[in-house]
Amino acid sequence: MDYMNALQNLSLEQIRAVIEVLQQSTDAYMFMLDLSVDTYILSEKATKRFPFHTTVIENCTDILKKVVHPSDYEMVSEDLEKCRSGEKDAHALEYRWMDRMNRVVWISCRGTVVAGAENHRLLIGTVSELGKKAKADNVTGLRREAGFRLDMGNQLRENPGSVHYMMRVGIDNFKEINEKEGIEAGDEVLRELAECILKTVDEDTKVYRLVADEFMIVVQGEAEKQEPRAVYRQIQQAIAAMAKRKEYSRFYTVSAGVLEGGFEGKTVEDIMRFTEFALNEAKRNGRNQMRPFEQADYDVYLRKLDIRKALRQDINHDFRGFEVYYQPIVSAADGYRLVGAEALLRWKNEKYGNMSPAVFIPILEESGLIIPVGRYVLWEAARRCKSWKKYIPAFHINVNLSYVQLHKSDLMRDVEKCVQEVGIDPESLVLELTESGYIETNERIKELFRDLKARNIDLALDDFGTGYSNMRYLKEIDFKTVKIDRSFVVQALQNEYDYNIISHIIDMVHSLGSVVCMEGIEEKEELSKMMAAKPDMIQGYYFGKPAPAEQFEKDFLMAKDSP
Ligand code: C2E
Ligand code: MG
Ligand code: MG
Repeated sequence: MDYMNALQNLSLEQIRAVIEVLQQSTDAYMFMLDLSVDTYILSEKATKRFPFHTTVIENCTDILKKVVHPSDYEMVSEDLEKCRSGEKDAHALEYRWMDRMNRVVWISCRGTVVAGAENHRLLIGTVSELGKKAKADNVTGLRREAGFRLDMGNQLRENPGSVHYMMRVGIDNFKEINEKEGIEAGDEVLRELAECILKTVDEDTKVYRLVADEFMIVVQGEAEKQEPRAVYRQIQQAIAAMAKRKEYSRFYTVSAGVLEGGFEGKTVEDIMRFTEFALNEAKRNGRNQMRPFEQADYDVYLRKLDIRKALRQDINHDFRGFEVYYQPIVSAADGYRLVGAEALLRWKNEKYGNMSPAVFIPILEESGLIIPVGRYVLWEAARRCKSWKKYIPAFHINVNLSYVQLHKSDLMRDVEKCVQEVGIDPESLVLELTESGYIETNERIKELFRDLKARNIDLALDDFGTGYSNMRYLKEIDFKTVKIDRSFVVQALQNEYDYNIISHIIDMVHSLGSVVCMEGIEEKEELSKMMAAKPDMIQGYYFGKPAPAEQFEKDFLMAKDSP
């Protein structure tokens, strides 16, 4: 018997009965579409979940328009047309339906064309839900990360050269939208953005929704089509147009990271990491931009992570490899007499050897590790200062503070505790701060400065003359000392103009009642030239390089008493 023609003798009613019987044994929804007269018969179960009014639908084009997701409708109707015309004898597509609550449901529709009564072409098959969790996202209707991993795993294994580039797009201020306007507003933005992306890309391009506010666009095929920057700009424009249409009721921008070419030998995991890195670079760089993945930048990042790990391990082993060095500070007005020292941190690691503080201090800051390390330096320096007072009673110690300690730790408590535990006069402690650290001075920081002053702990403004020197801070914050950075001193040694500026700055600092420490004097000639600008203190290699505590004591303190 020819099965393809076996249904020719059955009436629609009989077919409907068969469908209902078969429906008992499957989770999928059974259907029959009479392509010749555009009549759709489906199981009762399907009408409960999807917005079909009855199980027999005549003129089904209209109703399919309502059930199939608008973005998928064309694809579906084209395929059905091919079945109708005889070009195809089977239908197998994954696309989106809208359920009765107007939520997106990913389905897989499969069917075979058979000949029915009066030679009608009948498409008979099943619609199965692809499962809400792994497959598709109920907010945007896009497939999710699991789908991305599955597809990409296959594609990278079978044909990595077919991927042109991948673009990971993230909303810059998504957290803020969710927090300020609520989850529903967040969902709406996600839907809008998904729409903007889908409008921009061509039909070969796959779009997935990853975690939270991130999307992955996979562009395949020829290099010349849809260049990443153009796609990114078009998405931006689509967002801007959308914002205008909605009368600027909401504002957001997106950043993107792009991984282009060279997919051979890469795993999905690699791609996730690389695109995440490129996207984060775009955000770190000021957001609202697209960044390509750069291997060199990524290597620097990995090295930093590894250094951070080594730092953390050494900190956890009782500050193994850390040491505080001391550099002499002398009085310029008083025969270059030693008045104090700056405590400078050193770190020596098994793997990395001696590393410059210019490299490891920013890593300590980014990771917050500067807080315990800063405490370590404070206690070490305070203890040394106390013991060196036997040589010079008015000896003071300068300790560098990071803005992270200022903003993220209870500095006043630490300082109080240190002063008490070590038993030094607070007057002997000078805390050095760089300008960048308190640009955003808030009330809490101002209060901290007032408290320190009330405890007679002096502040020094470090690195003056680098970056944004802002005289306003000199007035706002009561700095006892201004430390002029070596780079500024070097400039002044080379040209008259900078020399005059330094000279005027020193006069001005004096008129505000503060003193100046000039840093980085290396040679005798440099000293004589800069002395004319009347600094109060000098710190530089000429008087001594930073040295370990014992050596500092031997060279600068004990030597003082010996002939
Ligand atoms: P800084 O606080 O401005 O320290 C002065 C830097 O200039 C020191 O570099 C010192 O060795 C160097 N220096 C002093 N005199 C001369 C000179 O005559 N010629 C030259 N070429 N350099 C001179 P160092 O020790 O490498 O420290 C670099 C920076 O690291 C410090 O700059 C400071 O910002 C930071 N730092 C060091 N220790 C600590 C610390 O314990 N905590 C924090 N938060 N930062 C620290
Ligand atoms: Mg300093
Ligand atoms: Mg300095």
